[in-house]
Amino acid sequence: MAETEMDDVQDPLTTEERSERMARVRSKGNKSTELLVEQKLIAFNLQGWIKHPKGIIGNPDFYFPDVSLVLFVDGCFWHSCPKCNRNTPHSRRDYWQSKIDTNRRRDNRNHRKLRQEGYHVVRVWEHELKRDTWIKRLRAIIARVEKNG
Ligand SMILES: [Zn+2]
Repeated sequence: MAETEMDDVQDPLTTEERSERMARVRSKGNKSTELLVEQKLIAFNLQGWIKHPKGIIGNPDFYFPDVSLVLFVDGCFWHSCPKCNRNTPHSRRDYWQSKIDTNRRRDNRNHRKLRQEGYHVVRVWEHELKRDTWIKRLRAIIARVEKNG
């Protein structure tokens, strides 16, 4: 189907149905990446973290209370990864792009507030999980915070 034809097809889902479906996609994506991160934290013997801490801005995936560090594991598509962001679906591009832009603005706002409150904010992109570079980076940050406060 040509792109112009696609654009003429009406979205069969209502806005509510759409956001409900998207929320499901998002939480599903989070689950597998979070599990991967959790396994790596254990494998690399990083301790002192809490999964899904309550009451922290932006609902980080992990929290290291001893060093006031919050860790976000973000899907490349939904959170607009600078490296992978070009994968926006071709049809309905405006629709997806505005959703993604909203997410990005919210992420930035949350991270700024967290830093203002004295948290160290670490963000891991989904695509980074294929390698161990991110956990070495995390370990280095934790070591630095432990040393300097
Ligand atoms: Zn990415």
